[in-house]
Amino acid sequence: MINRSDVKIEETWDLTHLFQTNEDFEKALADIKEETSSLVDSYKGKITDVESVVNVISAYKNLYEKLIPIGTYANLSLSVDQTNDAAALRAAKVGQVMASISADTSFVTSELLELDESLLKEASNKAPEFAVMIQELIRKKPYQLHPAAEKALAAFGTTFDGPYELYNTTKLVDMKFDDFEVNGTKYPLSYNLFEGDWELEHDTEKRRAAFKAFSEKLRDYQHTTAKTYDMHLQIEKTNSDLRGYESIFESLLFSQEVDRSLYNRQIDVIMKELAPHMRRYAKLVQKVHGLDKMTFADLKIPLDPSYEPTISVEESRKYMKDGLSIMGEDYVNMIDRSFDERWIDFAQNKGKSTGAFCSSPYGYHPYVLISWTSRMNEVFVLAHELGHAGHFYLAHQNQNVFNSRPSLYFIEAPSTMNEMLMANYLLNSSTNARFKRWVISTIIARTYYHNFVTHLLEAAYQRKVYEIIDQGGNVNASILNDLKKGVLEEFWGGEVEINEGAELTWMRQPHYYMGLYPYTYSAGLTIATQVYQRIQTEGSKAVEDWIQVLKTGGTKNPVELAKMAGVDITTDQPLKDTIAFIGSLIDQLEQLTKEIEG
Ligand SMILES: [Zn+2]
Repeated sequence: MINRSDVKIEETWDLTHLFQTNEDFEKALADIKEETSSLVDSYKGKITDVESVVNVISAYKNLYEKLIPIGTYANLSLSVDQTNDAAALRAAKVGQVMASISADTSFVTSELLELDESLLKEASNKAPEFAVMIQELIRKKPYQLHPAAEKALAAFGTTFDGPYELYNTTKLVDMKFDDFEVNGTKYPLSYNLFEGDWELEHDTEKRRAAFKAFSEKLRDYQHTTAKTYDMHLQIEKTNSDLRGYESIFESLLFSQEVDRSLYNRQIDVIMKELAPHMRRYAKLVQKVHGLDKMTFADLKIPLDPSYEPTISVEESRKYMKDGLSIMGEDYVNMIDRSFDERWIDFAQNKGKSTGAFCSSPYGYHPYVLISWTSRMNEVFVLAHELGHAGHFYLAHQNQNVFNSRPSLYFIEAPSTMNEMLMANYLLNSSTNARFKRWVISTIIARTYYHNFVTHLLEAAYQRKVYEIIDQGGNVNASILNDLKKGVLEEFWGGEVEINEGAELTWMRQPHYYMGLYPYTYSAGLTIATQVYQRIQTEGSKAVEDWIQVLKTGGTKNPVELAKMAGVDITTDQPLKDTIAFIGSLIDQLEQLTKEIEG
């Protein structure tokens, strides 16, 4: 794989939209420190009446908006090349500045929360644009610590992020994979190559050999990674205890604004009801590929081994525009801008973060990171990330910086919605049975597998981990391996052999450093599937509702947002309907396979 310095500029994103030059960045960093001091001088110890409440929130908002491009610039320039020492040092420095600003300004929240609730409500009437933010503050009140304690904790900010940084350093910097050998030929291996290519490799011998070599390297680092993870969990546990939450689950779900029943339901119903459909899918893949047995290492292969269209970066633009055109002209213009203005980093290079993500700094355009492999299924990855981009593009235009971001529970709905729209567009673009089977199997293997199976199994495993932590326990590599293996075996039953190395899958997922995130993928996709079906039957009315939901940003909770889009997630019906829909897709795959083979 090539070095970052050798990639084509047109395949990279343009960070000069955040800062023209490095000097501009340094200047902004210096200015922000000064602005923080001036905020402290003007307001510390002086937040006493309605007027000062509104003024300090407004000043804090300005400061916050200026921090955003600084943090984004530091993170994004590091994410394209974790081996870049200068970028790593810059990110570390920004982390320290952020922590010290956060400590210096922690008095704002502390002083606001010491005021009477009635005064806060009065302020919220006077400045309705801050109402959501103030309401959120009031909700936090019972869990707030003494101002000095809040300040001390804020000052430790970067230290608390330490485990996640260590995790990335181990995984992306230290871990070096040797070539693996099959029948005398050597093949290169890396995290990106494994997850982007080898895991989907049609040749069973190579695929399983890659899995074995990959797992062996992971195993070398299992204890360090487990210890790092445990450290992160203990920080979360201590935070939850100090603040007086009933359990670590309440503490982690607090900001998601959903109760524990919605969380548990997602895991329990899918573990039980989706499993039979997915086992049927695994059987079908095994049959089509003529495999002796189905193992964990075979689960990601495409159904049709010799039918994998390829697609270039430039071709992808047309697919995005046509596939998502139902979202309207504004949305399609945004897609054009994302290509014309280089919002997207397509390049594949050494040290680049794995997977794909979208970063949406308030006041700027979104950025998308992806490592383009030229496989056709990248259109789904890109449609997904542009779903996040479109969401924040609209939310930022319509909401202030405090109100634009909805609960994590809802975050994956707009992105997975775009995958469904893309699939529908592709299905309608051809009558060829093989192409149709390819599209449906890609929705299953990618959209539903990824969101309902991979992340769900992570969520089920993660719940077991947090149950141990909540009881005051610790975890190590052997406990994590056992938990992971147990969940995989429970879901796949006897249909899939959980081969050696599968138990280490917990080492691969950065989401474990982001609280109760994995389960939200299936939650978001449940909403997306239901709205997608509404769009199929009701057309533009449903699209309009959806656009309104995106514009609403974070001013409503997930239950309210789903309701605006016509979906009632207070019952398990949408989830059951979605699972039935997945079942019907697998029926179609079986049918199309008969047609093709018959
Ligand atoms: Zn996403």
